[in-house]
Amino acid sequence: MNGPASAVDLSRKAERAAVAVVCRRLRRAYGPVEWPQQGPVLDELIAAVLSQNTSDANSGPAFEELRRQFPDWDQVRRAPVARIAAAIRQAGLANRKAPRIKEILQRIYGERGGSSLEFLHERTAGEALEYLTTFPGVGPKTAACVLLFACRKPVLPVDTHVHRVAQRIGLIGPRTDANQAHRELSGMVVADRVLEFHIQLIRHGRAVCTARRPQCRDCALLDLCREGRRRLSAGDLEPG
Ligand code: SF4
Repeated sequence: MNGPASAVDLSRKAERAAVAVVCRRLRRAYGPVEWPQQGPVLDELIAAVLSQNTSDANSGPAFEELRRQFPDWDQVRRAPVARIAAAIRQAGLANRKAPRIKEILQRIYGERGGSSLEFLHERTAGEALEYLTTFPGVGPKTAACVLLFACRKPVLPVDTHVHRVAQRIGLIGPRTDANQAHRELSGMVVADRVLEFHIQLIRHGRAVCTARRPQCRDCALLDLCREGRRRLSAGDLEPG
């Protein structure tokens, strides 16, 4: 016979219910989320490294230019760092990203005898996350993006929008740092909601709950949001 649920079980249940409500509200506001096209794992990792500290508008063309100049990853691995840096210049920080990309490719080739990370499909999410975060410049967010989008594993990437919106609506504390946010939110978001939660919070963070001027009056989450209520009572909302 099951014993009474512990306080921890109950609060976890409440957190998951809150996540479900947030997803439902944001689905109504922004529409459903579809899986993006799935590509090779190594492509996703290099694209994720290029996207660090820049926008998709810059990292996307940089990735295309890298592939145009070097149609396969072995060519990039053997190329001088300066040539790689020239190819990815549009992504910014090219002199930091180029040696990082070359080192990643050299290590994979040294360990696996080829330029592929497809074996990660067979690993558990935890094993794959641990493996990817051993590469230079690959933290939990970058690794989670690779595993979610290329492997469709339920690993939640916590980017700046996800972190900010989750803090404001009170899912995590106001002083929770990025690594702690990753751990706490990962426990609250069930596997089949990970993609939707990630994408919807990014949409919301870009469109309404922006860093400097959140549009709380137009927000689908206002009644759930402690920061929105604080702003409302303090009268520091943007004009509606
Ligand atoms: S009410 Fe304001 S602070 Fe809260 S989620 Fe909406 S826009 Fe962000």
